[in-house]
Amino acid sequence: MTVIPIHAAGAAPVETRSTCPYCGVGCGVVIQSTGAQITGVRGDPDHPANYGRLCSKGSTLHLSATADVTQQTRLLFPQQRAERGGHLQRVTWDAALDHASSTFARIIQEHGPDAVGFYVSGQLLTEDYYVFNKLAKGLIGTNNIDTNSRLCMSSAVVGYKKTLGADAPPACYDDINHAQTVFIVGSNTAYAHPILFRRIEDAKKSNPALKIVFCDPRKTDTAEIADLYVPLQPGTDVMLFNGMLHLMLWEGWTDAAFIAAHTNGFDALKALVRDCTPDVVTQTCGISKEALFEAARLFATSKATLSLYCQGLNQSSSGTAKNTALINLHLATGQIGKPGAGPFSLTGQPNAMGGREVGGLANLLSAHRDLSNPAHRAEVAALWGVDEVPSTSGKTAVEMFQAAADGEIKALWIACTNPAQSMPNQATVRRALQRAEFVVLQEAFATTATCAYADLLLPATTWGEKEGTVTNSERCISRVRAAVSAPGQARHDWQIALDFAKRLEPTGRPTLFPYATPESIWLEHRESTRGRDLDITGMSYAMLEAAPQQWPLPGGQTLGKVRLYEDGVFPTPDGRARFCATAYKPVAEPRESRFPFSLSTGRLRDQWHGMSRTGTIGRLFGHVAEPALQMHPQDMSRRQVADGDLVQVTSKRGSIVVPVQASAELGLNHVFMAMHWGEEFLSGQSAQGQRMAGVNALTTSAYCPDSKQPEFKHAAVKVIKSPMDWSLLAVAWLPNAAALTTRTQLQALMAQFAFASCTPFVNDALDAGGMPRTGLLFRAADHTAPNDAVLEHIETLLHLGGPEVVRYADKKKGQRRAALLQRDATTGDARLQAFLLSGDTSAQSWVTTLLKDGLAAQAYSRALLVASAKPPVAVASRGKVVCTCFNVTDVQIDTHLATCGGDINARLADLQDALKCGTNCGSCLPELRRTVQATSMAIA
Ligand code: SF4
Repeated sequence: MTVIPIHAAGAAPVETRSTCPYCGVGCGVVIQSTGAQITGVRGDPDHPANYGRLCSKGSTLHLSATADVTQQTRLLFPQQRAERGGHLQRVTWDAALDHASSTFARIIQEHGPDAVGFYVSGQLLTEDYYVFNKLAKGLIGTNNIDTNSRLCMSSAVVGYKKTLGADAPPACYDDINHAQTVFIVGSNTAYAHPILFRRIEDAKKSNPALKIVFCDPRKTDTAEIADLYVPLQPGTDVMLFNGMLHLMLWEGWTDAAFIAAHTNGFDALKALVRDCTPDVVTQTCGISKEALFEAARLFATSKATLSLYCQGLNQSSSGTAKNTALINLHLATGQIGKPGAGPFSLTGQPNAMGGREVGGLANLLSAHRDLSNPAHRAEVAALWGVDEVPSTSGKTAVEMFQAAADGEIKALWIACTNPAQSMPNQATVRRALQRAEFVVLQEAFATTATCAYADLLLPATTWGEKEGTVTNSERCISRVRAAVSAPGQARHDWQIALDFAKRLEPTGRPTLFPYATPESIWLEHRESTRGRDLDITGMSYAMLEAAPQQWPLPGGQTLGKVRLYEDGVFPTPDGRARFCATAYKPVAEPRESRFPFSLSTGRLRDQWHGMSRTGTIGRLFGHVAEPALQMHPQDMSRRQVADGDLVQVTSKRGSIVVPVQASAELGLNHVFMAMHWGEEFLSGQSAQGQRMAGVNALTTSAYCPDSKQPEFKHAAVKVIKSPMDWSLLAVAWLPNAAALTTRTQLQALMAQFAFASCTPFVNDALDAGGMPRTGLLFRAADHTAPNDAVLEHIETLLHLGGPEVVRYADKKKGQRRAALLQRDATTGDARLQAFLLSGDTSAQSWVTTLLKDGLAAQAYSRALLVASAKPPVAVASRGKVVCTCFNVTDVQIDTHLATCGGDINARLADLQDALKCGTNCGSCLPELRRTVQATSMAIA
């Protein structure tokens, strides 16, 4: 690999190698920039995670860093609120940090160190994490530091430690090429880890004998590649795995020699699974005996079985049990420590692994040490040069916000995460943010829901601006590099933590934070790993400049360890792995007559977490344009709701109103909503006048007792049709330079309605002045119409206030329509620039198509004001975008497939040849395959 970055002088275009900040695949990117502006991104052909590929999210990263976006979304200087609920005022960095340190010092002095808490992020770099961890545990003397990674992979951590002895994923990406069975469970890999999914597709192509088993309650795009799909009921994975082991024992498929030589505790497990008969399993999991048998056979009898798993196992009140029950299968069949085999937990976040390595969680210490171990505490105290590290376990994510809501934690420092969107049970989280005396938010974006609760906002750098390291799912450490300088007064996360820490340090003592660069922090972290399972003392920044490296890489070695436990020796006191005999337990909040549906949350293909970054890119809303609750068509017809109807979804904790959408992916009594939809995009007001807080108003904070990871994958809810007497749809094209600001202004109105959503969109056309533009789609509904002033305000924001706007209003009937048409200078056609339908919105479909697709609208000008459900002349929609890279829609795909012949592969190849869909990032390939398959079946 060539040495990087490739910097050129002046404002000439330069390329800088770094990594993608989204998922745990950890793809390498090459950032293109000119001067202070990021201009493009491409996959790094030399990075071992992706070899040049990027998914739809990674390949659009640069669009989240344009000058337009940065100016409208970034925090550019520190701001402080003089009083709760007051306005933010700009302050200097010194004033901000002095205020933060004096407030923290006072609270610590009055209430003790455990009265403060730090809630950080798997998006932070390892160096940032290290400083925060030392600040909390080494300087302040509290273990109240936890991270949003707690919501993502803490069950995997505990699962590995309980069974294999260390928090170390034993497999690597290359194992996909050596596996004979890939067992995917609780992971929509096609959406959540797309580039890894491309590798699975490639492996299947080059080895048709490779079998793929996919177990999940939802038949997602990942099922497209599966030879066997096992549609188990939500939360029943432990029973499935225990039932598979029961069969393996019965059929003689276990590896007695491996069990005898390398493990402990099998007898207890054998006794436990004796009762997990096929009858019990099929009844509990809702699957067929054939599927159970086949899953067990393919797992146990293949030459090499690699399991890939993620939030479906982790985000559960039995998260640790699910992890250990799966690892049991690997140990029982000897499917570990050899090429193509092993339990491989896929990390959700780009640097969840780095956070684990530095011990940046409430119950961990540096380099995979345990807080509960006195020897480990002493080692870390000696390394840091402090008397001791506190012994009491700190508050984990859910506990921390509960403690703040109860008044126990009085100051919260939040870095690089958006708990007012992403934490479960938002009612408690928001109570915590309101009750805490002092909330500091260290953040790159001014647009997240948590900003509204901050007493002090500190602007941080983000992707493309930071230097340091991250570790991906396969233990591979990569250098993250800055392509451009920090915008405004933004500072690096580690620098902010360090400047704050230095203000808290006693005078006359050498500082605990003698760092001038990220490398100096990393060197201290490296030293902390000496002799540990993740020893990286043979690694250096210089080595990482040349190529990413996997840990462990102890001194004297030149390459990291690709695969762990090949010698059958595990990092436990006796070198043996441990079986865990854990019985199946139902979900924490079982469905019941009042709450008959199981709600799970998960990812969309083209969005990331709370959408603070992907939500700025209109193109990424092409695949899924608006929030919706997915439901099985039979459940919909039973409840007499149709696609697009509003429903009220209620759990014991909260309620939201959202449109419903039919989905064949789900089983009966199971509903799904994407985790991304927080109050930034979906809002409203409950009957009690409380603001709705997105999908996490509904989720439960019940958590796994071992890992403390909350159960996002199941909450018991009821779904009731929620007809509204008044509705509104307003859609407009806006200059890119103003679209995000307008969206923020519209978002401020959203809580006035019982339901409201606001999302952007784009097409490839430019505005009349030749500039790129972004569309905004604003929906609202309520039991009564708002007053005219509110509607006029919306019209003004969407440029529907001028004299050139055509209007119709009938106050008595509660109708109001406005439309702005502009003449296209080239074609002479009139095109719709903006419209608002208030009262009767039955024309929404064709009017929205006219605007979004930029169709000639002169034939509709009168009809726009009548706005009846049927247009005077049929409007042909371009359809829904399937391929984001080439802007190819389902209508184009269907039209082309109607002309194709041959088998499925030939038809897919023909389609890709003609439209290019799926030929760049490949994120849409599973959907294309499904469409080709469906049309082939229809032809047959
Ligand atoms: Fe980024 Fe996509 Fe790679 Fe994940 S798979 S790291 S989101 S490019």
